[in-house]
Amino acid sequence: MAETQQAEPAAKVDQKWRAAIEHAADCLACRTPGDVCETGETLLTAYTEATQEARSAGGAA
Ligand SMILES: [Zn+2]
Repeated sequence: MAETQQAEPAAKVDQKWRAAIEHAADCLACRTPGDVCETGETLLTAYTEATQEARSAGGAA
């Protein structure tokens, strides 16, 4: 990820969400209830953060 270009918050949320579900679709640990997947957690956290960022950037106070 050497992108210098800053993605739009909404596009970033979409990108993070895709990364999370694409990982989960291929990851046995993510699909196993009760199992913890660090990568999945990281991707979901990144998605949540992007969502919050988009919310504050969108000025939807
Ligand atoms: Zn996973």
